[in-house]
Amino acid sequence: MPMMTMRLVRPAFLVDINEIAALKFVRMEKDAARIGACTRQCVVEHDEALAECVPLLRQALRWVGHSQTRNRGTVGGSLAHADPSAELPLAAQLLGAKVVLRSSKGARTLEAERFFTGPMSTSARPDECLEEIHWPVWREKHTGSAFTEIAIRHGDFAMVAAAAQVALDGDGRCTRAAFGLGGAAGTPLAFPKIAARLVGTKLDDPAIDAAAGDAAKECDPGNDLHATKEYRRHLARVLAARALREARDRARTQ
Ligand SMILES: Cc1cc2nc3c(=O)[nH]c(=O)nc-3n(C[C@H](O)[C@H](O)[C@H](O)COP(=O)(O)OP(=O)(O)OC[C@H]3O[C@@H](n4cnc5c(N)ncnc54)[C@H](O)[C@@H]3O)c2cc1C
Repeated sequence: MPMMTMRLVRPAFLVDINEIAALKFVRMEKDAARIGACTRQCVVEHDEALAECVPLLRQALRWVGHSQTRNRGTVGGSLAHADPSAELPLAAQLLGAKVVLRSSKGARTLEAERFFTGPMSTSARPDECLEEIHWPVWREKHTGSAFTEIAIRHGDFAMVAAAAQVALDGDGRCTRAAFGLGGAAGTPLAFPKIAARLVGTKLDDPAIDAAAGDAAKECDPGNDLHATKEYRRHLARVLAARALREARDRARTQ
């Protein structure tokens, strides 16, 4: 629907897949939460077990449009739409979610990194349907995550969005870190190499600021009516640091 509203596509046929019950489910497994592609965003937002195991999903969804749009929008629709500013694709990218694509020839599983190929573009083939998404569950006791963004109005697509998830050991030292940016390039970005440099540190503010600064240098934002690329790069640095700090503070209280 968004693509047609923006006059980006004029399909000859529309197939409504909303009634396919097999595409609507939430299943918890040991290392991943599996979500069917047609599961409504509001179902994911209000699922307490999911909020426990993949808290970033609820945190991200609170920024997606309004409750009315989340009542209709699906998880798979958001990923397949692949807006580089959208919240769920960013969460998928930084967590390393896996998408299952199915055609009449069989199924294949792709990491989010290989799924998003550009603005509104994915590597799904024309005969493939997105069937389900596997969201990794971090089992570390002291884990925290956070999502933040700047938009013109709440509910608009983000000018820039940032998300982070970190795990700490009993001494408060980082054992695992992931963070990413949306609206800062043609696809959502994750920074695994920069995040790896945070492992072993106490995630103090200078370490976080350095990581956020390095990530902002790596992103490739565009100019448009809403913001210049310089302003977006500035937001990328500020918001990445904010998300990492919030994630760290939550992990410390677990
Ligand atoms: C007013 C408004 C505000 C919004 N604000 C935000 C926002 O702030 N952030 C945000 O992230 N989103 C936002 N959205 C988008 C919304 O959350 C939905 O994600 C989006 O509209 C897609 O809706 P849908 O799930 O019904 O998918 P559709 O519109 O049905 O499909 C979207 C695209 O994905 C393809 N597709 C859908 N499902 C599959 C599948 N299973 N397999 C393969 N291809 C598939 C379709 O062919 C189409 O190309 C907003 C939408 C509106 C109307």
